[in-house]
Amino acid sequence: MSSNDNHPRQLDAVIIGAGFSGLYQLYRLRELGLRVRGFEEGASVGGTWYWNRYPGARTDSPSHIYQYWFSDELLEEWDWQERFSPQSETERYLNYVADKFDLRRDFSFGSRVTAAHWLEDSGRWQVETDRGETVLAKFVIACCGGLTVPIRPPIEGYDDFTGEIIHTSRWPADGVDLAGKRVGVIGTGATGIQVIQTIADQVAELTVFQRTPNYAIPMHNPRLTDAARADLRQRYPELKNYVQKTFAGFDADQLQYDFAELTPAHRREILEQLWADGSLKYWIGSFKELFSDERANEEISEFVRERIRNRIDDPEVADKLVPTDYYFGTRRVPLENGYFEVYNRENVRLVDLRQTPIERVTAEGIRTSETEYPLDVLILATGFDTGTGALTRIDIRGREGHSLKELWKRDIRTTLGLQVHGYPNLFMTMSPLSPSAAFCNVPTCVQQQVDWITRCIKHVRNHPLSVIEPTVEKEDEWVAHHDEVANGTLLMDTDSWYTGANVEGKQRRLIAYIGGVAAYGQMCQQIEENGYQGFSVR
Ligand code: NAP
Repeated sequence: MSSNDNHPRQLDAVIIGAGFSGLYQLYRLRELGLRVRGFEEGASVGGTWYWNRYPGARTDSPSHIYQYWFSDELLEEWDWQERFSPQSETERYLNYVADKFDLRRDFSFGSRVTAAHWLEDSGRWQVETDRGETVLAKFVIACCGGLTVPIRPPIEGYDDFTGEIIHTSRWPADGVDLAGKRVGVIGTGATGIQVIQTIADQVAELTVFQRTPNYAIPMHNPRLTDAARADLRQRYPELKNYVQKTFAGFDADQLQYDFAELTPAHRREILEQLWADGSLKYWIGSFKELFSDERANEEISEFVRERIRNRIDDPEVADKLVPTDYYFGTRRVPLENGYFEVYNRENVRLVDLRQTPIERVTAEGIRTSETEYPLDVLILATGFDTGTGALTRIDIRGREGHSLKELWKRDIRTTLGLQVHGYPNLFMTMSPLSPSAAFCNVPTCVQQQVDWITRCIKHVRNHPLSVIEPTVEKEDEWVAHHDEVANGTLLMDTDSWYTGANVEGKQRRLIAYIGGVAAYGQMCQQIEENGYQGFSVR
């Protein structure tokens, strides 16, 4: 059934995005018997795993917890191939889920939501797309992802460049032939590291433009045997609950030791064990003091610095690659696979932008304050307008026409990252001030949020107007709690997308709640058990 502006289609709910959370949200709302339409900008399902096709893209979460838990049949059917799945496998998995549960038919693909306006009189959202479609819906659930809107840094001269410029998150589906080319990469975050280590031996010359060096942990990524899969399957029922009770939604939790009470030798032994796991355990399953205690963190950081330094032949290059001016784990820690050895190769050069900043892009390549680097291809691994970007590029207007974009320009606020005061019946996942915005194994947190939202919608539909929004007092309370927890950590002192420092003019506030997935889950549950206390339900 089509709709037009004169007779907008009436729905119960609109879902924005067909990634991990959007697909699951559709599945759950169908169970309630709601009339739902989803809109997805991409041509198919997958979200992050649809867009991020750059060479080497892969999860840093183990595949056995980077999945849905809602269907035993699905858990039984799907065989993960590696401990950490590449993009292609995760994308294939999400397509499999979409087909198995017949989710595609309720999504419009290639359709970007451009506006959502709350109509007070009818108690509905009017939602518009770039395809000219308008629908009315009681509820909107924004499942747009946290890392959706790519950043092209404000460097002069892009249009002058005669080669090809590609942002990693817009990598063409049919690939890019880099063989024999002179390739430049700007950015050494989780994405840049994966690209660099993957393409170094394919290209003629690789020039890496690094502003901030990163701590990174070597990934141990065996292929999974039938026996390993059987073992993991046996643990699925336990894991499904366990991940919700941990600090970051993983299959490991922070250690309960008191850092200061252990001897240095004992601490080192523990760090060695965590490191040997070849996962993010060294970060999110480590000493809890890592996030708050400078002395503890310095020891943990130094352990990593030593390991990076040992892998690089040239001490001057090592000096550039070893982070010294911020603490380990206060930026997103990537896993890597041969990344540091890349800089021992003859065809790779590292340009330290702190010493020689980029002046501009030229017709030939990149000019720094020192020299010009000729390039055929320029890869931008320069990240995203995280947390807020996906929603602020939609013209969202709540009660009295107030713009969410304007609100978040002044003050990035939400109530548990689930709703915002003044925007009734608008729900969100992976949004600011919830763990899912950054400090969580994403599937763990989005499944928890979608389940909460679904039960909330079920509850609200029994009320006369079926309208819910947080009170301003509840939101103030949540923002204050969020800030208090954030300000007690070392993260606020480090520039990164966690603190909004990667986008000019963005408010400096920790984008995600760092009080822990378990604590967050309990608070959400209490709200529900107390009849949505702090929320106005009409
Ligand atoms: P990012 O962490 O924000 O890194 C962006 C990189 O671009 C940084 O090195 C940054 O330098 C650099 N950059 C930005 N503007 C620049 C400029 N004007 N000049 C020079 N350098 C500039 O982005 P990302 O690597 O795409 O990662 C984003 C997030 O996506 C990750 O943190 C992670 O959560 C997720 N991700 C996950 C995986 C995985 O699971 N394996 C893989 C990729 C991404 P500065 O640090 O100096 O700002």
